[in-house]
Amino acid sequence: MRELHHWVHGEPRSGGTPLTVYGPFDRSALAAVPLAGADVVAAAVESAKAAFAGWRQWSPADRGRLLVELSRQMRERADAFVDAEVAETGKLAAEMRGLLGMSADYFEYYGGVVRALFGETIALGPDDHAFTTREPFGPVGMITPWNGPLSQASRGIAAAVAAGNTVVIKPSEFTPGTTLMLARLASEVGFPPGVVNVVLGDGPGAGAALVGHPDIRLVAFTGSVTTGRSIARAAADRLVPAILELGGKSPNLVFEDADLDAARASALSVCVGAGQQCSALSRLIVQSSVYDSFVARVGKEMAGLVPGPQLAPMTTEAQYEKVLAYFEIAQRDGARLVTGGGTPGGDLAAGRYVQPTVYADVTPGMRIFQEEIFGPVLAVSSFADEDEAVALANDSEYGLVASVWTSDSARALRVASRLEAGQVIVNGGRTGIETPFGGYKASGLGREKGFESLYHYTQVKTTVVST
Ligand code: NAD
Repeated sequence: MRELHHWVHGEPRSGGTPLTVYGPFDRSALAAVPLAGADVVAAAVESAKAAFAGWRQWSPADRGRLLVELSRQMRERADAFVDAEVAETGKLAAEMRGLLGMSADYFEYYGGVVRALFGETIALGPDDHAFTTREPFGPVGMITPWNGPLSQASRGIAAAVAAGNTVVIKPSEFTPGTTLMLARLASEVGFPPGVVNVVLGDGPGAGAALVGHPDIRLVAFTGSVTTGRSIARAAADRLVPAILELGGKSPNLVFEDADLDAARASALSVCVGAGQQCSALSRLIVQSSVYDSFVARVGKEMAGLVPGPQLAPMTTEAQYEKVLAYFEIAQRDGARLVTGGGTPGGDLAAGRYVQPTVYADVTPGMRIFQEEIFGPVLAVSSFADEDEAVALANDSEYGLVASVWTSDSARALRVASRLEAGQVIVNGGRTGIETPFGGYKASGLGREKGFESLYHYTQVKTTVVST
């Protein structure tokens, strides 16, 4: 079992009662994670504050070069990152390899585009000249969940530090390993001490202390809606902005004129990361004329995914219990089980595996239509026409992602414009780190990814000069 330490001012630091974390494959003890108290959090914030004075003076080009070098080094050490995150989260190695590439991309991308973060000039008259600059906030308090630790940390840290902020990040207590590796590597490639600090700990302890610290100037949180609400309240009390990337229950609308093979593949995307993805298209909503055959084909494909080589386990014990509870809830609410609905047993019983699961004939009154399960569970409903499709898609407190499949491009754009979601994907369009990501409604506030993110990690200063 590995004993982990916080990373403060460019070096390891101890402090806090250890929590033993048990792995997803066989529940064996993986790591002892110290749960930071307010003292460790205060030391990390102090370090970030001290580092900010110097870091903000670096030119964007110099900061950018360091980010690009960090990106390069991440790729050089890809195997170590992949192995560490697979052990903690249970992800399939191939999926994690893709996420490692994406994580490195964030540093490369923000290291480059920050040089194009310009202000405006404003003509006020012959003797008054105004211009705006985008300035960093200062120390950012960042909190991430357990489902995509490295990619979520990279997404936030890259944009924040490129823009000249410094960071104290608290990863999930269940999966802190790769965030620590990232911070250590940042120090190795030359980031000044205190630009990236990591405090390990749980939410009510270290997380709350971080958000409530008077020197934190911006909060960036990724996690559940419930925690997001409490973070938003704490940020409001201190009048600091909060970027909130929260959950989803994203609809996948399949019209009868869609390329049904491609649409079927997107339905299976609920099994990427074993469905432990905020962006999972977990509500499949199919036009009634093709409903029966489509559900049968999706069910068959899902049933063919083998837990272990093709489907990862649940990362945490609580998540495993949660998915099992939803199997009972779905039955009680009267959804029709097409496949799955249990655990695979056998050799996999020691791990946190669940079966890929499809429920059909799901109606908006059922809890599996409304609530985020965060597992390989698809809830399927049918619609008669375009209006009903849109109404069903929008019948949710969430609004993170929505997907539309149709060969009628006029309809695709019409429907996309009516969907309440921060990101709409038509016919399986590819998203990237360049495309802004974030929620409508309870799925969050603000945007990560893309150039847009740099606007959230900076504030505008207007300077007016009289000549
Ligand atoms: P969670 O809200 O329980 O925990 C997230 C983080 O917040 C953890 O680090 C946790 O320790 C911390 N935390 C918990 N209580 C806190 C408190 N009172 N104060 C400060 N910090 C606190 O979420 P989770 O179960 O770890 O993650 C799953 C959720 O994250 C899902 O809802 C998922 O949809 C969401 N998510 C969203 C995105 C996105 O980009 N929109 C990405 C991944 C996951």
